[in-house]
Amino acid sequence: MKKYDYLIVGAGLFGSVFAHEMAKAGKKCLVIDKRQHKGGNVYCEDVKGINVHKYGAHIFHTNSKKIWDYVNQFAEFNNYVNSPISISKGKMYNLPFNMNTFYQLWGTKKPVEAKAIIESQIKKWGKKSPKNLEEQALSLVGKDVYETLIKDYTEKQWGKKATELPAFIIKRLPVRYTFNNNYFNDTYQGIPVGGYNKIIDGLLKGVEVITGEDFFKNKNHFMDQAHKIVFTGKIDEFYNYKFGQLEYRSLRFESTILEEENYQGNAVINYNDLEQPYTRIIEHKHFEFGKQKHTVITKEYPEDWTPKKEAYYPINNKENQDKYEQYKSCSEEETNVIFGGRLAEYKYYDMHQIIASALEKVKKEIEDF
Ligand code: UDP
Repeated sequence: MKKYDYLIVGAGLFGSVFAHEMAKAGKKCLVIDKRQHKGGNVYCEDVKGINVHKYGAHIFHTNSKKIWDYVNQFAEFNNYVNSPISISKGKMYNLPFNMNTFYQLWGTKKPVEAKAIIESQIKKWGKKSPKNLEEQALSLVGKDVYETLIKDYTEKQWGKKATELPAFIIKRLPVRYTFNNNYFNDTYQGIPVGGYNKIIDGLLKGVEVITGEDFFKNKNHFMDQAHKIVFTGKIDEFYNYKFGQLEYRSLRFESTILEEENYQGNAVINYNDLEQPYTRIIEHKHFEFGKQKHTVITKEYPEDWTPKKEAYYPINNKENQDKYEQYKSCSEEETNVIFGGRLAEYKYYDMHQIIASALEKVKKEIEDF
């Protein structure tokens, strides 16, 4: 007789949603996580009353009313709208690429003027079917925006030439001919009041969780504990790297408490040239409109991934994707292991997509009961 219906490896968003739904369906779940806390990368640390996004800035956004209602069960959301500023060669620009940015670049005041410049640049530099990030960016916004706001940031962020990166990455960013600095096109957006831990605590309420527990140190023991395993870690590690290592991008965060009220006037400032080794500085209090006398800032340095470091981003170029497909084929043969989340699916998921995918997998499980 197995002790649990589901052993869930990883207490991040995917694992927590899965555990919550299964517990609600009457199933016995155990969640383990090698870190000392729950929440995966959405975890926030309270530093002198400020919720510090420990593993990078997380801004919740979705177009789905269903997903929005889902997260709102666990926390109230504020009306934060992400409007990052970018600094390139000493000049400041609004993001995403919009009429403010075009004015700052060229002095254009009317959409037709900006459009004319961009279209002539696309005509000159763009490609019919862009094959990499550089070609995609040139085909989307032209040469000036690419060279000022995309190329260096991207190469710093990914540690690869923009010509070696997949095109889809840059399609995440809107291009608009309105004076609208909202980084996302989605209908719903905000930061949970009280931080993301509130959502995770709500999801995992009543679920057995063990933190500081490394699945791989005792894999066979854990596999024996439950009828099914939900694995949210790195898929290549699960298969002992038998087809070789997948590549990831890591990050290093350098946080500082400052005895001043307002350091940079915005939650996110990107550094888009190579003068600074970091890609952005986050000032966490601005996510929640904090009024404290002090502030906490975090510089985000992209780094090569090694097995001792945290894997933040999959690098979905062709070579890695081909390797991943081999792992995926193995995973499809499994009858009692479910793979989910950014690392197990080797996919550049956002939070709302993780929740949707977890709910989808739960639905399938319940249908199979
Ligand atoms: N990007 C860029 N300039 C910017 C911001 C983003 O070129 O100022 C590109 C870069 O390639 C980055 C991608 O757009 O990896 C996606 O950016 P996003 O802000 O969505 O990334 P995340 O917050 O997930 O790191």
